[in-house]
Amino acid sequence: MANTAEVTETAVLNALKQVYDPDLNQDIVTLGFVKNLRICGGAVGFDIELTTPACPMKERLKREANDAVKALPGVDAVTIAMTARTRSRTVTRDDALRGVKNIVAIASGKGGVGKSTATVNIALALAATGARVGILDADVYGPSIPGMLGTTERPSADAGGLAVPPVARGIKVMSVGVLVDPDEATVWRGPIASHILQQFLSGVAWGELDYLLLDLPPGTGDVQLTLTQSVPLNGAVIVTTPQDVALRIARKGLRMFQKLSVPVLGIIENMAGFVCPKCQTVHDIFRKGGGERTARELAVPFLGSIPLDPRMVEGGDSGEPLVVLAPESAGAKAFEAVARNLAAQLSISNTAEQTRRPRELHLHDQTPPRIVWEDGAVTVYDHRVLRLACPCAACQDEMTGQRTVQEADVPPDIKVLDAVPVGRYGLNLVFNDRHATGIYSFDLLRELGELAEPQQR
Ligand code: ADP
Repeated sequence: MANTAEVTETAVLNALKQVYDPDLNQDIVTLGFVKNLRICGGAVGFDIELTTPACPMKERLKREANDAVKALPGVDAVTIAMTARTRSRTVTRDDALRGVKNIVAIASGKGGVGKSTATVNIALALAATGARVGILDADVYGPSIPGMLGTTERPSADAGGLAVPPVARGIKVMSVGVLVDPDEATVWRGPIASHILQQFLSGVAWGELDYLLLDLPPGTGDVQLTLTQSVPLNGAVIVTTPQDVALRIARKGLRMFQKLSVPVLGIIENMAGFVCPKCQTVHDIFRKGGGERTARELAVPFLGSIPLDPRMVEGGDSGEPLVVLAPESAGAKAFEAVARNLAAQLSISNTAEQTRRPRELHLHDQTPPRIVWEDGAVTVYDHRVLRLACPCAACQDEMTGQRTVQEADVPPDIKVLDAVPVGRYGLNLVFNDRHATGIYSFDLLRELGELAEPQQR
């Protein structure tokens, strides 16, 4: 080879800094994706560790990384191994869930829109990319997941007394349907449902999972609210059909998750158009594009449309989901695309959440309150500004959002005495005027602070 220029680690990393992950909006070196760099003469090898094996950008990133390094003087050969380590949020999990990286709720405003069908097909599409996937069927009154996956296997118990979930088509499944006859379940009521779900979360040996999909009962009432609050969710997905009424109900579901600070990862529109089995033409049965429009209006991602396919009903009854029964069908391809988009949205949400969390909180007598954030930003606070911005129901009108606490109500020597973490999304601030009901989300705190240069502690 005539190529004699020396290849250095710095040169390779600089070249790789030109490769951007368009979803996360950063280069792959800064994102920490480049691992295990080896240079031997003109041969360069490294791994690109993605945030999910289902990354839709996999091929593109590999090609761009290869081209960038190949263009360096002295490089003869480039070997890239694409790997994945699914990132998780810093959510507190109890023991049985410690190995579960992401829990995602699949919800719908009403029954019959294809929520369970979507859950099963998305789970299989994620598993096909190499991810470890489980489904927790939280629909305790109408458990349909075991039937859809074709399993009647009961869980066994491990040495520690945890239930070992049956594995169907590579997916770990826990459902009332694998414990009792599904018809028996329909007589149970809310508190039992919530208790059973708790058992499914803390009493099941889930092991290591990249994704645990939680198939919620249909609706957005109290049962769903309680279930959602009792699970450390990374995000939620709403399944809807293109009909107006279904979309209106889906909006209610979105608001429920937003209120609970659960990131809405996107909307899936099911039964959107019918693929004629004879001519393969897509006929729009309901009005089209409603899901996408709702997603746009509510500023949440649109994860994709699934067409109507009669084989979906057949497969649901025989325990063969469409992605298994007809992997080349338009519906199966649509589920694969939805799964990829979901994994990408989850990575984006997890990454954003990790950088927008407080790392340190300083409350000292002599200096203004200060937060050092995970992304290195530092914000300082005026005690008075914090008190006047209190988001609790007594300080602002819940319906209009108008402030009811006035300047004159706040004593001149107002001070934050304590800050107590709430869930994974906020702080409860305690003031010296005995006011202690405000939960300040991290987003609100970031807004209220003045950005400062990082200081010496
Ligand atoms: P949910 O969980 O929202 O109550 P299911 O997933 O049980 O809804 O679906 C209800 C019925 O509709 C099932 O019989 C299922 O096979 C069928 N179904 C769901 N999605 C589709 C689709 N895209 N095409 C045809 N049938 C579908």
